[in-house]
Amino acid sequence: MTQGHDRPIQYLAGVGPKLAERLVKLGIQTFADFLLYFPKSYEDRRKFDQISHVVPGDAGLFLLQVQSVMESHPKPKVSIIKARLADASGVAEGVWFNQSFLKGSLVAGRYLALRAKVQTDAFSGLKQLAVLDYEIFTDAEDRATWTGKLLPNYALTPGLFQKKMRQMARDVISQSIAFVRDPLPEQWRRQLQLLDKRQALKLLHFPTSLEEAQAARRRIVFDEFLVMQLFLAQRRAGQKTEKGIKLAMNGPLAHRYRTQLPYQLTRAQARVYDEISADITGGSVLNRLVQGDVGSGKTDIAVLTVLGAVDSGYQAAFMAPTEVLAEQHYLKLTRLLAPLGIELIFLKGSLTAKQKLAAKTQLAGTGACIVVGTHALIQDTVQFNRLAVVVIDEQHRFGVFQRMNLRAKGQSPHSLYLTATPIPRSLMLTAFGDLEKSIVDELPPGRQPIRTVAIAGGQLGRAFELGHQVLKEGRQLFVVYPLIEQSEKLDLKAAMEAYEQLATSVFSSYSVGLIHGKLSPKEKSRIMAEFKDNRIQVLVSTTVIEVGVDVPNASVMVIVHAERFGLAQLHQLRGRIGRGAYASTCVLVHFSPSAMAKKRIQALVNSQDGFKLAEVDLNIRGPGDVLGVRQSGMPDLNVADIIRDEAELLLAKNVAQQIIQLDPHLARPEFADLKQMVGNGQGHRVILEGLN
Ligand code: ADP
Ligand code: MG
Repeated sequence: MTQGHDRPIQYLAGVGPKLAERLVKLGIQTFADFLLYFPKSYEDRRKFDQISHVVPGDAGLFLLQVQSVMESHPKPKVSIIKARLADASGVAEGVWFNQSFLKGSLVAGRYLALRAKVQTDAFSGLKQLAVLDYEIFTDAEDRATWTGKLLPNYALTPGLFQKKMRQMARDVISQSIAFVRDPLPEQWRRQLQLLDKRQALKLLHFPTSLEEAQAARRRIVFDEFLVMQLFLAQRRAGQKTEKGIKLAMNGPLAHRYRTQLPYQLTRAQARVYDEISADITGGSVLNRLVQGDVGSGKTDIAVLTVLGAVDSGYQAAFMAPTEVLAEQHYLKLTRLLAPLGIELIFLKGSLTAKQKLAAKTQLAGTGACIVVGTHALIQDTVQFNRLAVVVIDEQHRFGVFQRMNLRAKGQSPHSLYLTATPIPRSLMLTAFGDLEKSIVDELPPGRQPIRTVAIAGGQLGRAFELGHQVLKEGRQLFVVYPLIEQSEKLDLKAAMEAYEQLATSVFSSYSVGLIHGKLSPKEKSRIMAEFKDNRIQVLVSTTVIEVGVDVPNASVMVIVHAERFGLAQLHQLRGRIGRGAYASTCVLVHFSPSAMAKKRIQALVNSQDGFKLAEVDLNIRGPGDVLGVRQSGMPDLNVADIIRDEAELLLAKNVAQQIIQLDPHLARPEFADLKQMVGNGQGHRVILEGLN
């Protein structure tokens, strides 16, 4: 049996299979979906522009009566309809191209609402209206219904017209609004000065003023946030009752690791490690996000935490979002930890079945160890014996479910999430609302500011001139080419060809090296070592150098096809230079960048501040793409925007806390609707009861 909120939209009179299909494209399958389908704007039909008051160049919305219609065919297959249209103030000519079918409805005497750009006809001097859109009224009643008020403008799909959408909205509301339940108890609603839910849904589509529309939106947005915040508050409460595995922090291995580092931890690194240790030794389950700019030394913090597991005879997992990153970590950890006699296992999707089996068997049969890998780690067949610590690097690239799946490999393992993408408060309140947070707010000493310039592809030569200049001074040079997993083969080919050219002509008097993901780990580390020792001066690479590379003598990075990289990635790449005593330059070379790519590149040129860049990224792409909120596994946000609606978000968080304090399991009858909305993971749904 379908519940009221599942009532299919086909049940609405006039919605046949074809129309239903189009509505599905808009995400509308049920009456409830339609109620929550937000207008993208409103058309103000309370007042129309007057023909005599507009001048050429203006755009206006007019209410006009058809006086006469003429069709001409200047060429065999071309039709031009010209109609004399009048309002009380004057006459103009409306023009439609190739819409012969209009002749049937565009008849003398009828009225139409018309949005158009005003022009002047060169011959007659008459005002001409270049039609943007129009709606013809069949009779006076039709006209009265759809004028004199605000009307919703919905996002459409081909074959679906605004008028039809408006009619359906009107019908859906009249048939279902009485069944909508307000999940918020009356008393709370009044205190929060929010609209009643039924009224809000109605006014959302047909407000009498923009203020009303805003109040309606506010109510719906609040509900979405409230359901999400209740979900998070319950989850946090659940986590607090879990018992954490006791680990020896600052144990012998951790101590040895720390003393063998060629540098001292920064104060920020030491503080964050202390915060982590305090969670773990205090008996709770570590669930902490470590946020620090590129190069702030998060890896050391993670390694020290992982060593807490090994020191105590447990296993630890280190997961990264791409194979390239995972491999970098594996190499780095091998270099750092193999000397301490620690067993390391590597698991990634592209291993052969035999290799994978070997890795899994090794893992299942061993005790304390560290496993490094990609998503491959969360496959069902991967089994840990004694998993105590989970580290997820670039954590924003995973969803909550993936995080949870890795955690589920042990019994409440401690979890540490690393990110170089600063997470704004609004996201800490939503997507990451269940995590504690530490910030590594200090870079290791000796980092230099980096000059960043952008040049068009045609000027690539200039970038290489700069390269020559610094090479002459004894510095080294990175040249980076894009390589994304989807177009790996083509990208690799391009990078290799570029390498050939640089090695044999442009930089032929220097030693040029090539590094890419397809090389074996051994070859990679050999090339990296040669670059580090300045036996290679120019390193051509795909994005493998994203992490872990530290060559203070490299002072220039040329990023070719900068338009193909993401903002965070560019920022990370750039972080590989400026690590020595030399002035450094990053050259972003772009080839017909899109508007978005231009914005990214400009942002990089303007700023070296990871936090600022993350904000820009958020603005360009929206939170869903930047931080994987979309796959976060919590109640969906349908219309609420965590940036624009931050005030409602904060209010909802507050209210959710109050409710959970009063009634942790939402057991009281007055919270029954909220409980249902939180429980089904579909926070944006309205509850429609008794509609069938
Ligand atoms: P990220 O935070 O971006 O992951 P990494 O952990 O890769 O940064 O560290 C970047 C570089 O800085 C590495 O080469 C690392 O060896 C070095 N590093 C880390 N901590 C310090 C420190 N306290 N002093 C000097 N160098 C450090
Ligand atoms: Mg890192």
